[in-house]
Amino acid sequence: MMNLNPFDVITGLPNRQQFIADYEAAPGSQLVMLTLSDAKHFNQLLRAIGHDYSEDFMRVGAARLRAAMGHDITIYHVSILSFVFIVPGGATLERLQKIVEHFKAPLVCGGIPIAPDIALGFTDCADFNPSNVLRAALAAAQDCRNNGADWARYNRKTDTAHQRGFVLLSQLPAAMQASDQLSLHFQPKYNMATGQPTSAEALLRWKHPVFGNISPAEFIPLAEATAHIHALTDWVLRHAIAQAGAWAAKGMQLSIAINISPRNLTRRGFGRQIAQILQNCGVSPSSIELEFTEGALVLNDQIVLEELQALRHTGIRIALDDFGTGFANFSYITHLPADIIKIDKSFIQKIGSDHRSALVVRSLIELAHNLDYSVVAEGIETEKTFKMLADWACDEAQGFYLSPPLDAVRFSEVIKFPRQVKLKVG
Ligand code: C2E
Ligand code: CA
Ligand code: CA
Repeated sequence: MMNLNPFDVITGLPNRQQFIADYEAAPGSQLVMLTLSDAKHFNQLLRAIGHDYSEDFMRVGAARLRAAMGHDITIYHVSILSFVFIVPGGATLERLQKIVEHFKAPLVCGGIPIAPDIALGFTDCADFNPSNVLRAALAAAQDCRNNGADWARYNRKTDTAHQRGFVLLSQLPAAMQASDQLSLHFQPKYNMATGQPTSAEALLRWKHPVFGNISPAEFIPLAEATAHIHALTDWVLRHAIAQAGAWAAKGMQLSIAINISPRNLTRRGFGRQIAQILQNCGVSPSSIELEFTEGALVLNDQIVLEELQALRHTGIRIALDDFGTGFANFSYITHLPADIIKIDKSFIQKIGSDHRSALVVRSLIELAHNLDYSVVAEGIETEKTFKMLADWACDEAQGFYLSPPLDAVRFSEVIKFPRQVKLKVG
């Protein structure tokens, strides 16, 4: 077996391998993890002061921890920014407080004072498996950071939610391969002037063999944080565009609206990928709307803007989804590479009861029209809301009041019969 170095080369402290070798379960004892900084902040630091000084950051941090804990306790340097130690008898408030106090002063690295942004997590040393205990301490330290607390104890409930996220992510590729897990539901949008259905928004559904139905609001953000989002969007594009082709063949002239993630746009060649699928399915680009959120614009990336513009040149329409929820930078509305603005349902749902929300939506519709965008209202749940929006000349309507998302078969039944597409107005 390879003989691994038991010490960290930067701080000289015993490392993670040594922790694994030394660890023994001990009821009453606790493992404490201290993280010096969050990874994003550390990367900025690395860029600003270079590797040599950032190594000082770890060395000075280790010395500071030693000063807080004294020499009787073994401190392990388990990953770049993290140290752990076992406290027999448990991590008392006084000890934790002492560590927090010691890290209030900056760590001086190459003459530059750097404010540490520590997180402290602790867990019982009851498990016999050192890797499990280490992971629990890390989970607690992350909870501490997420909650902005001084320290956090391992919490099985929040950890289980994270673990579920991990399981879901690892099973997503298999779900994309399986024939019976992912599916699309379709929710119609209606032209408010004519009452005719104009398009169907494809909404992804996942029926997991063990967890049952999982909301896209849970698994899409997980996928978006990883490269899985590219394969997932590809799955949605292929299935939604094939469905558009099948409906067109039956004489149903409807556009398909597809949700895409900001990260899809940062990948060059995305437009070519769509063009290929459209060609394979014999569907015209003018039958496609792509809905994206402001997150894509916040990236403020030239690639994103070029990609959107190139997509529009092919005849695909671009809709800005969830409009009004971000507003990171309002100035972009004047030069948005988009055709449609979709006002977020959180605004729409309030217009019937809240005068100020009604004013905002009414003004947004006017503003969008003045800038030549078409306006869609999503999340219309009542007749009152629908009528108000119709009065304000909103172009298209979508929401449970008109129709919930439906599977493809139900959707085509609902759309086929003119009586049922007649809007419930008047
Ligand atoms: P979204 O794009 O804003 O989609 C609208 C969501 O509101 C859908 O939830 C829809 O079922 C729901 N909805 C529709 N009408 C009403 C209404 O009248 N009232 C209320 N309260 N809700 C209404 P769903 O299907 O759970 O999707 C949630 C989100 O997941 C979507 O929000 C979208 O951001 C994301 N998503 C869904 N499918 C995809 C996909 O294929 N790709 C990507 N990237 N994201 C997707
Ligand atoms: Ca959408
Ligand atoms: Ca939306």
